Amino acid sequence: MLFHTRDFVVTEKLDYFAAGASVMYGMYFAPIRIFRLDKPDAVGSNTGTVLRMWTALCVALYLAHVGYLSFVRFDYTYNMAANIAVGVVQNILWTSFSIQRFRKVGRMWAAWPGLIVAWIVLAMSLELFDFPPWWGMLDAHALWHLGTVGPTIWWYNFLIKDAQEDMQNSRLKA
Ligand SMILES: [Zn+2]
Repeated sequence: MLFHTRDFVVTEKLDYFAAGASVMYGMYFAPIRIFRLDKPDAVGSNTGTVLRMWTALCVALYLAHVGYLSFVRFDYTYNMAANIAVGVVQNILWTSFSIQRFRKVGRMWAAWPGLIVAWIVLAMSLELFDFPPWWGMLDAHALWHLGTVGPTIWWYNFLIKDAQEDMQNSRLKA
């Protein structure tokens, strides 16, 4: 919001680096949930090591990304390409997770991540196919921001349902 009202060097960096952090965090979280790296006993004894290595890799990639943009060159094309590449990987992960879960449990909300991802891809196309602002004020980027409100709420509801189901399952096992 700050960046969109005041375009300074610092607000631009805050906008881009925060967006990058959010995309990178999504990438970090996806395999942890999908492959259950948060539950060492469920997958295998070396899961803790895998999780630590994954954490270190994600932190290193993010720092390298911010370092490149800060100290080498603020390359908008590279930044966009990096975010799209990382985004596409997690979209594929969540879509296949949804298909598998939906087939297994048959409940509609198991398919939510895949549907949310599809929504994000549609909204994301506004970022890629830019057009001149309507009435000189409403541009593609504003619509992209508007388009991210719905899936954020939807995603939060999925996380709650997923955590509740997990709690029930562990109670059943105990
Ligand atoms: Zn923006």
